[in-house]
Order: sequence, then C-alpha cells, then structure tokens
Amino acid sequence: MIHKLYETGSLTAEELLDLIINRTPERRELLRELAEKRRQEVYGRDVFIRGLIEFSNICRQNCYYCGIRCGNTKVQRYRLTVDEILSCCHSGYKLGFRTFVLQGGEDPHFTDDIFVEIITKIKAFYPDCAVSLSLGERSYESFKRLREAGADRYLMRHETADAEHYSMLHPENLSLASRMEALKNLKSLGYQTGCGFMVGSPFQKPEHIVKDLLFIKEFQPEMVGIGPFMPQKDTPFGDKPAGSVELTLYLLSITRLLLPNVLLPATTALGSAQQGGRESGVLAGANVVMPNLSPTDVRDKYTLYDNKLSIGAESIEGLNALRKSMRDIGYEVVTDRGDAARE
Ligand code: SAH
Repeated sequence: MIHKLYETGSLTAEELLDLIINRTPERRELLRELAEKRRQEVYGRDVFIRGLIEFSNICRQNCYYCGIRCGNTKVQRYRLTVDEILSCCHSGYKLGFRTFVLQGGEDPHFTDDIFVEIITKIKAFYPDCAVSLSLGERSYESFKRLREAGADRYLMRHETADAEHYSMLHPENLSLASRMEALKNLKSLGYQTGCGFMVGSPFQKPEHIVKDLLFIKEFQPEMVGIGPFMPQKDTPFGDKPAGSVELTLYLLSITRLLLPNVLLPATTALGSAQQGGRESGVLAGANVVMPNLSPTDVRDKYTLYDNKLSIGAESIEGLNALRKSMRDIGYEVVTDRGDAARE
C-alpha cells in the first residue's frame, strides 16, 4: 500500500484509515524513507527558512485550543508598530531570510490600509523576498487588496476537515464552511496557499485525519502546516493531552507522498513537543523551517500553547546553530525565496 502511495500519490479513504490506525515500526520506516526520497527528488537537500514575525497577539476570535484567544485574560497583549515589523525584516534580510511571514491574531487594529502599507514597504525594500500572510479569515475584498499590494503567500490552516469536529474546536461564530470559502478565495486570487491541521487536537478521530488528508489531496495547496496539538493552561483545552509526535511525523511523510511538491514545514509545535523534533520532521519529508524573527521582548507573549520553542535565529549565532543542526542530518539551509516546485 505504501509503495502504491509512493508511485501514484494517492490512496483511497479505506487505505488511509488502515495506514493511520495500524501503524507499525516497519510501516513508519518505509513511509519515512520513501517520503525522504521523494522530497530529495523534488527539493534535493535544501531546507528553506522563513522569518516568522508574530506582529500581534490581540485576537477577536475565541478558538478553544489557542492561548491568545480573546477570552484569555492572563495574556499580556502586544502589537508591533509598522517600523518594528520592518526592522524585523531588516535584521532577517541581513541573515539570509528571503521570506517573511506575518502571523498574528485577528487584531482589528490591523486594517487593510495598514497591511497594504506594510506589504508595500517590505516589497519596496526587499524586492527579492516573498511575503507570506497568516492573518486568519478576512473578506474576499481584503484578500484581494493585500494580494495586489504584493503578498505572495497565505497560510490558513483548515484545522479539521470535519464540520462537526470543527464545531468542537471553535465557538459558534466560526464554521468550517467559512474557513473553506476563505481558502478557496485565497487560491482564486493567486496566492500560494497553505492549509493544515493539528495532530491530536481534542476529539480528533482517525476518520477525521483521513478527511484532512483527502481534502489536502483535492485542494492541492502549495503549503501544508501540520503540528501536534499542545495544551495551553489558560484555555478550555488546558488539561487535554498533547498530540503525538510519532503520528505527526507519520502524517508529514504521508503528506509528502500525496503532494510531492508541497512546501512542508517542520513546525514550531513539533520542535516544541520534542527535542530534535524539527530535525525528525525534515528526515520525515519536511523541507521548511520557520525561525522566529519577532523582537525578543514579545516572544514569550505569543503563547499559542505552553512551552513554545523560540528558535533564536534572529542572531547570527542562532541561525548558525540551525544551519549546523541541519548539516548534521545531511541537509543545507539555503538563502532563497523557496517557492513551491512546479509540475
Ligand atoms: N490567526 C491566524 C493564525 C493562528 S495561529 C489564523 O487564524 O490562521 C497559527 C496556527 O497555530 C493555528 O492555525 C493552529 O493550527 C495553531 N495552534 C493554535 N493553538 C495551538 C495549540 N494549542 N497547539 C498547537 N497548535 C496550535
């Protein structure tokens, strides 16, 4: 079955379910080997880095799993100014970053006008860089304006492809239908689009993961974010167990085989869940790492979950440590925009 997945890039729902439920060390290693092989066929041993700028932890949404949900009164809130964001890009550029990812809560302060200003300025200063946005759900018109201002990519995880499961993770004002609508809009506007989900989120069943994988295969995103769920103590899911690193790695490999060209990060959550998690992710088929470029004094406030790792790559020492850890496993961090390979 795993060879069929490698050769055809697809499996039926029944086969995927079997693969997820019946994980053996043999299956795990075969999946990992073939995913690594496929990844090397498409991207060689290059690892793309993205400079993550967490511009605000103020959010109008109240997702049950997320530490910066508006209902959490324990977070110290912050937002960066336009100049602070540009200064993150400036130091990142000098270090070799050629993609900046603006991620934040759905902070109403950041209107389209402000984002247009930020994107226009980044593109004017650094025309050889890609700008990725991860701002949550916005209207079609808004996505359109930001795209026209020069944004290249947009990351918005679908979180779960099962509507009922979605409603167990989010309050009533949020629905899978509107998330999917937003993802379709992004794609139609020509963004390189990223979807994805958490592994081991509360109430998740193997059948939900099958739906996630089938959705990913059908949607054909350029990027897929998959990381373990990690509890944050001041959220309704604060006492739920963390998702499995082993299953996350297994799903990264399956995703690489379903979509050979996909840009697949070894996520911060994976690195936070287990020491060496990022390296294991790369060995399982991932080809992107997203170090943090946010100013050090706000790092510990962007607490999506507890014990969140902050890869200190804002300094040359931090980035060199990342380069070394990748070299040690046979991979090479490159200075490149790192766009998705085309068919
Ligand atoms: N507001 C943006 C960015 C959200 S944070 C948006 O709506 O897209 C980025 C991702 O972090 C989320 O999509 C979610 O999948 C992940 N995340 C949030 N809380 C988490 C937790 N407790 N454990 C693991 N991942 C989490």
